[in-house]
Amino acid sequence: MSQTAPQPEDVPLAPLPHYIGGQPVTSSRAPFANVDPASGRTVGYVHEADAGIVDQAVKAARAALRGPWSRYTDPQRAAILRKVADGIRARADEFLAAEIRDTGKPHDLASHLDIPRGAANFDVFADQVANLSTETFRSPTPDGNGALNYALRTPRGVIAVICPWNLPLLLMTWKVAPALACGNTVVVKPSEETPSTTTLLAEVMNEAGVPPGVFNVVHGFGPDSAGQYLSEHPGVDAITFTGETRTGTAIMKAAAVGVRPVSFELGGKNAALVFADCDLDAAVAGVTRSAFLNAGQVCLGTERVYVERAIFDEFTRRLKAAAEALRPGDPYAEGTNFGPLISREHRDKVLSYYARARNEGATVVTGGGVPAMPAALAGGWWVEPTVWTGLAPDSAVLTEEIFGPCCHLAPFDREDEAIAAANDSPYGLATSIWTQNLTRAHRVAAAIEVGIAWVNCWFLRDLRTAFGGAKQSGIGREGGVHGLEFYTELRNVCIKL
Ligand code: NAD
Repeated sequence: MSQTAPQPEDVPLAPLPHYIGGQPVTSSRAPFANVDPASGRTVGYVHEADAGIVDQAVKAARAALRGPWSRYTDPQRAAILRKVADGIRARADEFLAAEIRDTGKPHDLASHLDIPRGAANFDVFADQVANLSTETFRSPTPDGNGALNYALRTPRGVIAVICPWNLPLLLMTWKVAPALACGNTVVVKPSEETPSTTTLLAEVMNEAGVPPGVFNVVHGFGPDSAGQYLSEHPGVDAITFTGETRTGTAIMKAAAVGVRPVSFELGGKNAALVFADCDLDAAVAGVTRSAFLNAGQVCLGTERVYVERAIFDEFTRRLKAAAEALRPGDPYAEGTNFGPLISREHRDKVLSYYARARNEGATVVTGGGVPAMPAALAGGWWVEPTVWTGLAPDSAVLTEEIFGPCCHLAPFDREDEAIAAANDSPYGLATSIWTQNLTRAHRVAAAIEVGIAWVNCWFLRDLRTAFGGAKQSGIGREGGVHGLEFYTELRNVCIKL
């Protein structure tokens, strides 16, 4: 073992509480189980919010809007956000253990991606808000004296933050940090699958001096539970959500009552385009990462790969070898770089696509089943990294988001054919383009209908840039100043001179 796994006595016995007004709060509904996906063992319990708890949280957030938080200047809020970032780093081991217990993801991944990005999100929005300027115009008037127009940014109010399970701390803080930077208060509903790091963050918020009620947490599920109660609550001024497109549809209906704005990061069915003039080593490594990182449970992940025919066989051989070299195992064991799926339900879904691909006559290049795991992990939600070829373009395997460690390879002969195939999707989140021809790279990046186009890389992020999806992959952009737009109202002030 390269790292120390938490011992059984580290598993919390008391159900995880909600956090409202800076205090842990319990509720009367029966707590639900938190299951370790790597072993299938129950490792804790979580309180489930009823409508009353959600109401309490929204009221606490509303009250905090009128408290000391409203008088903090941008630099003062930025300083507190930096303390939150430091607080996450100071308790990184606890955050790591919590994230690994909830997701089963490899220690190496959580320690290099999830937890450091969770902290960095607070630093980046502290920088952004401290340097945010607004427009000013000296405007002509008929009397010649002119008018001065300037903009005031005000917080939107109480923000509901509804989060998925795949990158729990990273994606939650990506919303909470800009919301708080702009002076809002939040009620966060983490995924029922991954409640722990959000709860820990509530403690860090208190330690960093965030006033009570600014950051609230309610636990539970979607329909008839915390998610639905929160999105329907009339005291919520705006909703930011990351998750499945069909959940976004339900939340948008709830937001329509009261005409509340939404920011959505939704599903994807992302394509990689691999041209014969690419650096093949880099392309194989990049597509391997984009298809299998986090067991394929990354919204930006690649499930469709279009490869120029001249290198199709070679690329397929190499991707097969790379997929077969992945090592599922104990998240804490040296060399583990492939984790389980999040739940039994999600594994059933992914395996249904594996069966469908077989039934439709796909060539299974590698995988397609469930790996044999050692006894301690045999009850976990494992599937094999899987590569197919030979499916028809209208197969559901190629049109629907699977969100598992799998991809389909199809050959192409012409650039326009590859672009048309990539664009033939209701989704439009991200793409990666592999070529050494710079002109082609620009041309293809401009032609693909997505929010993010990577050239000769994947998931390389500068947090100041716009992040989001086109088509059914989202509404709005997160990141940098773009994220701050959603969390503020812009008021035009016009002074006649
Ligand atoms: P999900 O939509 O099932 O759940 C997300 C959250 O919504 C959970 O907290 C859930 O409890 C809540 N929820 C479910 N139904 C609800 C309802 N009716 N009302 C209110 N809340 C409700 O998504 P998931 O399975 O947790 O995450 C995987 C999905 O997230 C994939 O589709 C993936 O592509 C997407 N995702 C997108 C991005 C992005 O940036 N575009 C990032 C990560 C994940």
